[in-house]
Amino acid sequence: MSRLPVMSTKRVLTSSSSENSQEMAPMQKKMRKEQDQHKPQAAATIIGDKRPPAAAARASLYRPVRGAGAATVAAAPSRGVLRPTAASTAPKASNTKQAAATKPGGTGATRRQPWDLKGKVSDMEGKIRTYQTKFKSVNEENEALKGSVAQSQTKVAELEREVQSQKRKISEYEGELKKLSGVEKELEKEQSEKNVLQKELSNLEQKYKVIETLRDSQETELQTLKMKLSAQESTLARLQATLKETEEEVSSLKEMVAEQKDELHAGEMERRRLHNTIQELKGNIRVFCRVRPLEDGGLSKHIQLAASDNKSIMLAKSEESHTGKSADTQKNYHFSFDRVFGPQSSQQEIFDEISLLVQSALDGYNVCCFAYGQTGSGKTYTMEGEEIDDTRGVIPRAVQQIFKAGDKLQSQGWEFTFTASFVEIYNETLRDLLYKGKASKRPEHEIRKTANNEVSVTNLTYEKVYTEDQVLGLIALAKQNRSTAMTAQNDRSSRSHSVFQLQIEGVNAGRDIKCKSTLCLVDLAGSERMLKSQSQGERFKEMTCINSSLSNLGIVITSLANKESHIPYRNSKLTYLLQNCLGGNSKTLMFVNISPEPDSFGETLNSLRFASKVNDCVIGTASSNKK
Ligand code: ADP
Ligand code: MG
Repeated sequence: MSRLPVMSTKRVLTSSSSENSQEMAPMQKKMRKEQDQHKPQAAATIIGDKRPPAAAARASLYRPVRGAGAATVAAAPSRGVLRPTAASTAPKASNTKQAAATKPGGTGATRRQPWDLKGKVSDMEGKIRTYQTKFKSVNEENEALKGSVAQSQTKVAELEREVQSQKRKISEYEGELKKLSGVEKELEKEQSEKNVLQKELSNLEQKYKVIETLRDSQETELQTLKMKLSAQESTLARLQATLKETEEEVSSLKEMVAEQKDELHAGEMERRRLHNTIQELKGNIRVFCRVRPLEDGGLSKHIQLAASDNKSIMLAKSEESHTGKSADTQKNYHFSFDRVFGPQSSQQEIFDEISLLVQSALDGYNVCCFAYGQTGSGKTYTMEGEEIDDTRGVIPRAVQQIFKAGDKLQSQGWEFTFTASFVEIYNETLRDLLYKGKASKRPEHEIRKTANNEVSVTNLTYEKVYTEDQVLGLIALAKQNRSTAMTAQNDRSSRSHSVFQLQIEGVNAGRDIKCKSTLCLVDLAGSERMLKSQSQGERFKEMTCINSSLSNLGIVITSLANKESHIPYRNSKLTYLLQNCLGGNSKTLMFVNISPEPDSFGETLNSLRFASKVNDCVIGTASSNKK
């Protein structure tokens, strides 16, 4: 270590001239070359102040390491050598003369005289010696440097080894450090994971606490529910027992209901039978007389109604004595009918009697109700009436009763279907009063008998009806159709028959019973007779048709009453149309409407005569159309 300063110096040298040190041999050659070059100017080379820069640079290579070798130093062309030293000055002094002598050209070079060969040789020899000495010292120096280089190299190798081992150690340490830093990161990661887990744990702990609380409350609730359940179970058991009892009760009640339904049905059938018996006892053909009030509300003198009963009417006519001597004679005409209604009788009173027959229609009997009388006697008022409740006539009231009774019978298993038709017979021609099409396209109608002996009219509107309102609508339509005809031909309605028919079909599916019947409500044409002289053309035809159809109606009823083999139904459209509603299994009611005015006396008498002829008939016992 003590050599370190030297080493550093050497190192500097080595490093700065490593090339030179390594190429020592070429250097020596170089030096020889130099010697050769300087041969002619050796003195200048040694003593000269100014040297070429290259030589100066080279001189630095030979800078003496040690102070030894004064000659060498003096000869060396280095800056250090230029310093004035004792050694260097010596030769200088010795050659001062020569030098002064050899400086003629001012160049500084010591020149021997050409002849001075000996001097030149001695100079050369001196130079050689100097160079040898120099060479020797350089060699020595070189050797020393070599040794030192070897030492240094050894040292360097050692140091390099040391450096290598240090490097290895460092790389080991670095590896370890790397590992450690990885471990550190892992540790940090673990730590953060641990933190997360700890948080989670605390969360879970809290949740657990909540759940525990919840569980506790649910357990309490469960207990409560269990208690409730057991209470409800016992209630259920009680209810089940009650249910069983109730079910038994219900089944016994059902049996009872069935029995009662049977009884009810039997009762209903019994009622029908009794009702029919009563109707038959009253007569299957009945005639009611209705007297219209006078326009001023009073009662006419020639019509007298018996106070004792409501079945007789007397028409009185006083005749003046032809001779004038005797007192005026009064002729009384007595008539009795099933009922006589005075001018004060209301529409309701009239209907109360008819409603029994309407009931018969629902029970399966054909029912026919006629209004007979002269024009203005109140036929239309009786059959149709007016629109206000109290003044409503037989048709709307009958329809109302039928729908109500049909609804009631539904509870006993009856299903009813109703079909309505409304036809007018004028001059023995049928006209559909429910026709809704164009007047120009009115179809013609024919009365036909079907295979099962039912009567039907071709092209006639048969409308299924489900409500009372629907029927009232149809009646209004018929009225409108009749009034249209009336404007075309003056007051045609009084010279035509209008026939409202309601076909009733009842089915009791449970008991397999069906019934079918028709309710006919007929507003007949005016029965007044006209003098033949007064009636001509169309009026004559009208009159003839009316007379023949009304008298034929009388004949048919009488024939039926007399149980004649031939009933002349075909003689008029009216009887032909109504053939199934008249006769054996039907109930017929004839209203004879009376005008109270004295000038209607003749017509009234005719009407009462016609009606009593019908009333005298006894039609065979009716049987309902049960199937
Ligand atoms: P017809 O149809 O027989 O020709 P209407 O029924 O048209 O006779 O009756 C003629 C008039 O007499 C009508 O104005 C009618 O309102 C009235 N009328 C008929 N009968 C009664 C009665 N019972 N009570 C009150 N007015 C009646
Ligand atoms: Mg009328």
